[in-house]
Amino acid sequence: MARGACPALDAPMLTGDGYLSRIALIDAITPDQLAALCSLSIAHGNGMLDISARGNLQIRGLTLASAAELEADVRALDLPLREGLAVEWSPLAGLETGVDPRPLGLTIMEAARTLRGSLAPKLSVVLEIDGLIRLDDLLADIRLVAAANAGWNVFLGGTRQTGRGIGCVSDENAADCVAALLDHFASLGPKTRGRQIDMSSLPENVQHHLKPATPLHRLPQQSLFGLFAVSHRTHALRIALPFGQIKAKALAEFAQQAEGFCIESIRPAPDHSLIVFGHEKACANLHGVAEQVGLIVKGDDPLRQIDACPGSPSCNSARLETHALGRFAASETPTLFDGSLRLHLSGCAKGCAHPTPSPLALIGTENGSHLVFCGKTTDTPIKHLAPTAEKAALAALARLIETTRRDGETNHDCLVRLGPGGIAAALGEGP
Ligand code: SF4
Repeated sequence: MARGACPALDAPMLTGDGYLSRIALIDAITPDQLAALCSLSIAHGNGMLDISARGNLQIRGLTLASAAELEADVRALDLPLREGLAVEWSPLAGLETGVDPRPLGLTIMEAARTLRGSLAPKLSVVLEIDGLIRLDDLLADIRLVAAANAGWNVFLGGTRQTGRGIGCVSDENAADCVAALLDHFASLGPKTRGRQIDMSSLPENVQHHLKPATPLHRLPQQSLFGLFAVSHRTHALRIALPFGQIKAKALAEFAQQAEGFCIESIRPAPDHSLIVFGHEKACANLHGVAEQVGLIVKGDDPLRQIDACPGSPSCNSARLETHALGRFAASETPTLFDGSLRLHLSGCAKGCAHPTPSPLALIGTENGSHLVFCGKTTDTPIKHLAPTAEKAALAALARLIETTRRDGETNHDCLVRLGPGGIAAALGEGP
């Protein structure tokens, strides 16, 4: 699969542990359907299941032949599969009060069908409302953010914070405006991304839909976790997969128990999470089951602040036991995780778990590992660590923060103040 490509159910991607198929959903599924997907993971793959940072299910460890069988079996489950352009909205859409972005999203997907093959494979459209779970941090080629009264503010590229605003479109014209933008992307070539668009040369059929941007709600960002009410009759339990991955057998057990508790539906969600919907008591009952099968049940669990690829021994390219190291960091160096400092543990320089820059990254190499500060896995490291020195380095970093952090500083602020030189010095002698 070419660089920049995106795995799908009909386009598995070769990874270090075989082919990976992605199952993107546009709606929730039943606990029984989730259990069936777990069975398919065991039957066709290596029995490991991911939920990606964008909230897509992934089945790993496939061959090309078993991926084709998986596709046929998944289609037979009659799931609400998303095909074609990735248009994403809150997993609570339609359940919480406020704007329901789904009709607009479905119209955009339909309009994009004729452009299949002409758009960048990873191109995405994000529809953002100020709901209980926000998608602010997801990169989007086109982002529509619901305006305070009506209409949508349109941004190109980046996150909600970094995207470039091009104006506001009315509810009635939003789908046509996005369709015209997609046509423009296609006319510029199948690799065109939102961040590359020249704002001064937007075509007339885009511009005539746009008015000056209107004020946004600007509510503080929130991303609820654990048990919460979505509406007066529906509760939700949001839990997460450590490092975005779980054994299909464990998830199947969770799904079967959910069925037993009369949970109405389950939906994979951003940040490697899973949301179950049902009555309050059913969701509360499932909380203990989630913990038993190894899911993250607390929002402040340090594991939620660690990005780790499968690593060694799962991936053939790996030179670092990422999951074991991540569990060590979460339990032995919790000081590191105040919410400001994500840690990226990567088995090799490919950086599958977090392709964008991280505050701290440890990358396995042929000869020990690299520590990168505020960068990507391929950036120049501030320190080369000898083989098996990673745990000691994490402990030293935690001590450094404990002893040097000033009042009012976050961990991230503290390390930025110390700089690469100060951090490297605290880790001892050597390159
Ligand atoms: S980043 Fe991790 S999962 Fe990706 S190829 Fe390297 S070791 Fe394998």
